[in-house]
Amino acid sequence: AKAAGRGTSHFFNDSLRQQAESHLRLHNEIKRGLAENEFAVHYQPIVDAASRRLVAVEALLRWRHPRRGLVGPGHFIPVAERTGVIRALGDFVLRQSCRDLVAMQRAGLDIRLAINRSSREFNDRRTVMNWLEIIDESGVARDRLTLEITESVLMPDKARQHRLLRRLNAEGVGLAIDDFGQGYSSVTYLKKFPVSQIKIDRVFVQDMGESPEQRALVEALVKMAQALHLQVVAEGVETTEQADQLTGLGCQMLQGFHFGRPMPLAELIERFGPARSS
Ligand code: C2E
Ligand code: CA
Ligand code: CA
Ligand code: CA
Repeated sequence: AKAAGRGTSHFFNDSLRQQAESHLRLHNEIKRGLAENEFAVHYQPIVDAASRRLVAVEALLRWRHPRRGLVGPGHFIPVAERTGVIRALGDFVLRQSCRDLVAMQRAGLDIRLAINRSSREFNDRRTVMNWLEIIDESGVARDRLTLEITESVLMPDKARQHRLLRRLNAEGVGLAIDDFGQGYSSVTYLKKFPVSQIKIDRVFVQDMGESPEQRALVEALVKMAQALHLQVVAEGVETTEQADQLTGLGCQMLQGFHFGRPMPLAELIERFGPARSS
């Protein structure tokens, strides 16, 4: 029962505690889910803009929850980042997707693999060494991989992460800036950083048809990337018009529902694997 005269600060503490409790519950659920093999990695096609052929896939995490069905990362990754269980999830995604890349290669797909990483997933040299170990154990060549990191990682106060990313890149792993144009982005910094690719956020792509201004904005982002000698991937491509416009603007790669939604390994191989010669 609530005591009379309780101040708002108590309510605030209450809700903070409730939040902490619900985070802890989800944290434990995730650990249980990992142990029960409920997590899966789906793959979304990335095509070459000129030929429209598959050149890469992006690994996207899914939770096959026994009661809630297929759950997308937006529902659990933010909490996983806060409780730290994101590291275990990240290791799972890396291990599983490297194995799957080997299966894709065996099925005749000569493609690259992109994996998402938030800066909360790495702080120390050991983590990065562990990732390299996971990659090497799978038999996948390090230069087949691209780590997608968000712009905020480039902020000047992330010196430690910068060192680790440089190290990873020196070891062969490619780096891409995800959701480009969404947030902080220092051109000077981008120039100094060993990034080879930027991904234009789907918000820009989807607003492109609305006005000449929006289109000019995407054009400016592409021009800037080109001036920095970076490859450009456009995300969220849903229509032929968008695909053709983006190709015309000089994007090298395209990704979006128009080319395929994130799908399980078997479906990817069935749809994109070269037909077996008979
Ligand atoms: P993201 O890295 O920007 O991934 C692209 C998201 O856009 C995916 O959502 C994808 O399904 C969605 N998408 C792709 N094409 C289209 C399109 O044409 N239209 C629309 N409306 N959506 C499209 P998803 O799979 O729900 O992932 C959401 C976010 O969760 C990702 O955004 C990424 O930031 C994060 N995430 C996913 N997997 C991982 C992971 O393994 N580790 C980490 N740290 N983050 C992950
Ligand atoms: Ca991404
Ligand atoms: Ca993105
Ligand atoms: Ca995103």
